[in-house]
Amino acid sequence: MREIVIISGKGGTGKTSVTAAFAHLAENKVICDLDVDAPDLHLLLDPQVVREGAFHSGNEAVIDRERCIGCGTCMEMCRFGAVDADGEKFRIDPLRCEGCKVCVAFCPEEAIDFPSRHCGTRYVSDTRFGPMVHAQLFPGQENSGRLVSELKKEARVLAERMGRDLILCDGAPGIGCPVISSLSQADLAVVVTEPTPSGVHDLERVAELCDHFRIKVAVIINKHDLNAGHTEGIEAMCRRKGYVLAGRLPHDTVVTEAMVRRQAVTEMDGENFGRRVNEAWTVIQGLLNAH
Ligand code: SF4
Ligand code: SF4
Repeated sequence: MREIVIISGKGGTGKTSVTAAFAHLAENKVICDLDVDAPDLHLLLDPQVVREGAFHSGNEAVIDRERCIGCGTCMEMCRFGAVDADGEKFRIDPLRCEGCKVCVAFCPEEAIDFPSRHCGTRYVSDTRFGPMVHAQLFPGQENSGRLVSELKKEARVLAERMGRDLILCDGAPGIGCPVISSLSQADLAVVVTEPTPSGVHDLERVAELCDHFRIKVAVIINKHDLNAGHTEGIEAMCRRKGYVLAGRLPHDTVVTEAMVRRQAVTEMDGENFGRRVNEAWTVIQGLLNAH
C-alpha cells in the first residue's frame, strides 16, 4: 500500500486542482480529502454518498433548564465568556464553549450535562475516479487533526478491503496539527507551490516538516511562468535540500475552466497544462516505485 499526500504551505496554490488531476490519472486508488476545514475536492469529483456517519470530538457543556436554579456560578467561572443569562436561567453558547468542564464541576445543582461534541459528518462516496473518503465540519468547528487521522484510517481500511494499492490524499493546508496528521504514514509528500515570496517561504516551512518526519518530498511549481526569479529560487532550494522537482505548470485559464465545469483539468486538456500534469504524475509514480 502506498500513500501520497498533496500539500501546500497555504491555501490557494492549486493543490486541489492537482489532486483532482492525479485522481483522474492514478489507477487502483482510494481518494481521501483531508482538507476538512475547506473541502473542495468534492466540487470537482461530484461524490455520490454511499455511507455517512457523525464525527464527534471533545465535549461541550449544556445547561439543563429544568435543574438550573439561576445562581450564575457557571458564568462567573467560565473563562471563555461562553455562558450568558437567558431570562432567569443561563445558557451556553456552543461556539464559544471550549469544553474545559469547569462549569460542570462547580454547578451546585449538577445541572450541566457534558455530552461529546458533534462536530461534523464523514462520508464514504463513489466518484467517477473511484471511491473517496471525505468529511464536512460544521461551521465554527475546529479541525484538531483527529478527524484527519480518522479519515486516513478509514481510507486505508477501504483500500485494503477493495484491493486498492494507493491512497491519494488532498492534504490539509498550512503547517499545523491537521497537516501533521495528514503526513502520518505517507510515503511521499507532493508540495504544490507558486513562485511568490510567500510561496517560497511556505514551501520551505512545509518541506522542513516533511524532513522532520522523514517523508520524501516532491515539488510542483504552479504558475511557474509568473516569476522566473522565484521559480529559479525554488528550483535551487530543491537541489540544495534534495527535493525532487516533479513538474512546472504554466499559468493557464484551463484550470479555472475545469473548475467551472467541475472537471479535473486532465479531463479537459491533454495538450498543454494537462500534458505537464501527466508528466509530473509520471515522475511521482517513478518516485513511488523506487521507494
Ligand atoms: S451553575 Fe448550575 S445552577 Fe447555577 S446558573 Fe449555572 S447551570 Fe444554573
Ligand atoms: S465547559 Fe468550560 S468553556 Fe464551556 S461553558 Fe463550561 S466553563 Fe465555559
